Amino acid sequence: MEENRGVWVFIEVNEGKIEDVSLELLGAGRKLADKLNVPLSGILLGYGVKDLACQVIYSGADAVYVIDQPILKHYRTEAFMKAVIQLAEKYRPEIFLYGATPNGKDLASAVATDLSTGLTADTTMLDVDVDKRLLEASRPAFGGNIMATILCKKHRPQMATVRPKVMKALEPDISRKGSIIEEDLNLKEEDMRTKVLEIVKNVTKKTNLAEAHVIVAGGKGLGDLQGFQLIHELADTIGASVGASRDVVEAGWLPHEYQVGQTGETVTPKVYFAIGISGAIQHVVGMKNSELIIAINKDPKAPIFDVATYGIVGDAHEIIPKLIQQFKEIGR
Ligand code: FAD
Repeated sequence: MEENRGVWVFIEVNEGKIEDVSLELLGAGRKLADKLNVPLSGILLGYGVKDLACQVIYSGADAVYVIDQPILKHYRTEAFMKAVIQLAEKYRPEIFLYGATPNGKDLASAVATDLSTGLTADTTMLDVDVDKRLLEASRPAFGGNIMATILCKKHRPQMATVRPKVMKALEPDISRKGSIIEEDLNLKEEDMRTKVLEIVKNVTKKTNLAEAHVIVAGGKGLGDLQGFQLIHELADTIGASVGASRDVVEAGWLPHEYQVGQTGETVTPKVYFAIGISGAIQHVVGMKNSELIIAINKDPKAPIFDVATYGIVGDAHEIIPKLIQQFKEIGR
């Protein structure tokens, strides 16, 4: 463990662009590295990505380790994991941060398993105990009721995935200097167990929630993806935009751009329907300034009623069809 020094950030690249979360992690990593008095390095993997190394330095890194090879053109767990492990075994970082994106989470867990080290997932706060050289990775636990600070005392590197939009990126400084270290990866395409045949883009409509006048937002109370269709039907009936709580996004019922709240959109529509949404503070901060809030929840004590203009206590599956019917009759 004594040999492990330095803070690393995995630089995620999509379609030739560095993901915002990686830049945010360089901002957070810079503070940790300064406290520990060690360099901050970016790990840049891909094909045709070399030119992005300067941006990593401008955003706070002292060094960038680059592996730029065709085998890394598209993200694949096996190839990226082998590349990261090769670098980690050679240079031995003490802290290694990844964005809590689908690829970041996938890679971090594979690397942690292979290196037999610990991983804190979905971290929202990072600090370091300088004397003990311990990363303090905090994340909500027990349904968000407490913050748990997780330490990895006996293994290195100490790893964490960090949620997008919770850390702050630094203003890019183009006068910053750093070293770019290129490495080779001894891996053949024929050794790969997976091949990327085609990339199919998400074709869902873009939403602009921040501009919407009427929003019908649904939460986990809708039960499942099929139950959530009622939210789309109500929104279609009244010409509203659809919104969602984070739990809905995490369940994969809607993409992140539909999320309202602290780590989603802040909205101020004329009318906001909050259906099957408990009213957690992180949701409420994103919608509480709506002109009129109509909450539907089967729990009369749900906190959403504290901010609602009108509240309906009952089962959304029974109430939404009735609302749709009424709105259709008014429309006629
Ligand atoms: P739940 O809390 O599970 O609530 C479901 C509700 O539906 C309950 O009140 C229940 O009574 C009701 N219900 C159940 N069945 C029915 C039914 N048949 N009919 C009517 N009502 C029913 N959350 C966000 O939304 N946005 C954010 O941006 C966000 N950012 C976060 C950032 C951090 C750092 C953290 C820690 C948390 C964040 N969260 C955010 C998560 C937040 O704390 C809550 O976990 C989340 O909002 C809960 O989603 P929900 O209300 O859909 O689900």
